Amino acid sequence: MPTTPEPAPALRVDRVACTGHGVCATLLAGRVRLDEWGYPVVDDAHVPRPDGDRALAFCPARALYWSDRR
Ligand code: SF4
Repeated sequence: MPTTPEPAPALRVDRVACTGHGVCATLLAGRVRLDEWGYPVVDDAHVPRPDGDRALAFCPARALYWSDRR
């Protein structure tokens, strides 16, 4: 019997830890934008893993993370 593949993890922002540097919006243009205060809004959390891992690595506040929760 075939099994249903696990859904891919979604990219999330810890809004308490985020300091609004905006690196994520630059690296993930089209998926993350900045609100009027310069904080990120994730429009499309289904980021390819390599791109998301790169943004995680460059986030100066370590505020990005992967989540299995929908
Ligand atoms: S790179 Fe990190 S600290 Fe900067 S806006 Fe994005 S989540 Fe926040």
